[in-house]
Amino acid sequence: MANWETVVVNTDLLICGGGFSACGAATEAAYWAKKKGLKVTLVDKAAIDRSGAVAMGLSAINQYVGIRDGENTAEDYIRYVRSDLMGISREDLVYNIARHVDSTVHLFEKWGLKIWKDEKGKYVHEGRWQLMINGESYKVIIAEAAKNAIAAAGGEIFERVFIVDPLMDGNKCVGAVGFSTRENKFYVFKAKAVIAGMGGAVHVFRPRSVGEGFGRSWYPPFNSGSSAYFTLKAGAEMTCQEVRFIPVRFKDAYGPVGAWFLLFKSRAISASGGDYMVVRKAELENWKPYGLVKPIPANLRNYLGMLDTEQGLGPLYMETDEAIRNIAAQYKDDPKAFKKKMKELESEAWEDFLDMTISQAILWAAQNLKPEEKHSEIAACEPYFIGSHSGASGAWVSGPEDLPTPYKWGYANMTTAEALFAVGDGSGASSHKFSSGSHAEGRIAGKAAIKYIVEKGKEPKVDMAEVEKLKAKILLPLDLWEKHSKETTDPEINTNYIVPRQFLHRLQKIMDEYAGGVISGFKTSKALCERGLELMGMLKEDSAKSAARNHHELMRVWENNQRVMQAEAHIRSIHFREETRWPGYYFRADKPKMDDANWKCFVNCTCDRKTGEWKMMKKDIWTMPGV
Ligand SMILES: Cc1cc2nc3c(=O)[nH]c(=O)nc-3n(C[C@H](O)[C@H](O)[C@H](O)COP(=O)(O)OP(=O)(O)OC[C@H]3O[C@@H](n4cnc5c(N)ncnc54)[C@H](O)[C@@H]3O)c2cc1C
Repeated sequence: MANWETVVVNTDLLICGGGFSACGAATEAAYWAKKKGLKVTLVDKAAIDRSGAVAMGLSAINQYVGIRDGENTAEDYIRYVRSDLMGISREDLVYNIARHVDSTVHLFEKWGLKIWKDEKGKYVHEGRWQLMINGESYKVIIAEAAKNAIAAAGGEIFERVFIVDPLMDGNKCVGAVGFSTRENKFYVFKAKAVIAGMGGAVHVFRPRSVGEGFGRSWYPPFNSGSSAYFTLKAGAEMTCQEVRFIPVRFKDAYGPVGAWFLLFKSRAISASGGDYMVVRKAELENWKPYGLVKPIPANLRNYLGMLDTEQGLGPLYMETDEAIRNIAAQYKDDPKAFKKKMKELESEAWEDFLDMTISQAILWAAQNLKPEEKHSEIAACEPYFIGSHSGASGAWVSGPEDLPTPYKWGYANMTTAEALFAVGDGSGASSHKFSSGSHAEGRIAGKAAIKYIVEKGKEPKVDMAEVEKLKAKILLPLDLWEKHSKETTDPEINTNYIVPRQFLHRLQKIMDEYAGGVISGFKTSKALCERGLELMGMLKEDSAKSAARNHHELMRVWENNQRVMQAEAHIRSIHFREETRWPGYYFRADKPKMDDANWKCFVNCTCDRKTGEWKMMKKDIWTMPGV
């Protein structure tokens, strides 16, 4: 085995991940930990100033309820999420986040985030729930608060440490193991409670950007399904693993469309079919009641556009030039004011990309595209797993203590594995929490985890013989490379191992062709899922033959293995749910209709920790009384 030092870290609370939800958890947990003399430790695979989905910054906070100004209520938010998820949401969790999220946003402002204000001093809304921000440094500000809170409470932060597996004592999580991506160090974190906040998953499906653009995607490449893998490996129950997210974004550089639709009131059209939201309106009847609510669920909006592209009516375009003209038209009688407004709109259009998807601005420049003069191509991206956004996959967690929810086993956001909490993309069926809601959920879980430690926390019992086995398994790819790489003239081609890039291509091919990726028009069926699972079984066998030539590739190997777990949970859930409920995200071609009588329920699953056997189950939907 590679000769790596084993570093043991003892803590009370271990937070895995350093993104939005984890920073929320750290800020809140450290506050309570300090009062109780407990230690909080946070571990991230990257540097938390610029890690996770918000690494590059954002131009809007997507969840702000506006309770103090009477703009909306938490109940309104429940209704919104319920419709957008076609009836399948954990209303207790959505409510819990919605009633706390505003205070999180107010903290962001206190910490230095610039939220746009109008002349009356009110926040500028992009849409009903969204606030405009100067967000290039959004993540830096939120990370700074987390770092300060941990430092003030005497905790520790480990950066560039990749978490792989949970440590278990029966059904209880007692820590985690991982490795440094820079040094020859294997880490063993022993903890009384653990929070999994390692984001969602990208590159499970083959991206549209292949060849020279490989790696480019809407979802940032840093998150590889570590939360799903970690909670599944802990034996925790998972939910909504079939609910992937497919955003429609500016084509090829994946630039955001929110500001265009909500702020600029732009239309999307297809080249020969016109405004598909108008032309294909009748199709929405087939998906009622959800098809008839406003806003129309994201998947149905996608679906109407997809119907056009399937019929060869594409490309699809965002009518940027028309939208800018329409806004500026208010100033048409005053040439000076008109010119000024046009300049302002033009700079807002570019800034929207420069804030969070710089590559889209580069692509516009490269293609000589001026948004005020010419419309710009949009397309449905490949599928992602992002339960905090408009997907819903994640762990099945306990609801808030004060609500009459049937899904409750003690501590808010604790999974069915004791002492293991999940947040952000890691917790399921509570979509539309976005950056602010993920942070709020992290705070909820951070506080609950400290409460758990105070009330039930015991010294973690860690089996060091088990740890040694995990170390050998995790470092094996380095050994395989060392042993066999000189056997062939091209070390990438070798009968004794497979390199991470080859493995990733195989996974993505299976998912793309059998589980409803771009190539199959997002369609799948029972038979396709079954064949996909067969091939996945063989891929899993080969995962033990993954080789890594250095630290970076070792991380790639484990990212791949984590993606495989997410992929399998996904195919199994799509296979189990015998209906089509989210056309526009995926389509079960053999069950093309929504079937409320049999499938208005959650699809949950577990994977046995010892045997690896999957169990699929239905769980009833609970709706908040009176909402
Ligand atoms: C392209 C895009 C645009 C978005 N736009 C908006 C928007 O405009 N407004 C808005 O409010 N929200 C937006 N969101 C949503 C928002 O970014 C997410 O809801 C939020 O980041 C989720 O928080 P999280 O903590 O679950 O994941 P993240 O913030 O992604 O954090 C995950 C963390 O886990 C770490 N990690 C991953 N694997 C491991 C591992 N194995 N070991 C250790 N650490 C690990 C990562 O480095 C990262 O720090 C957008 C998301 C995306 C992808």
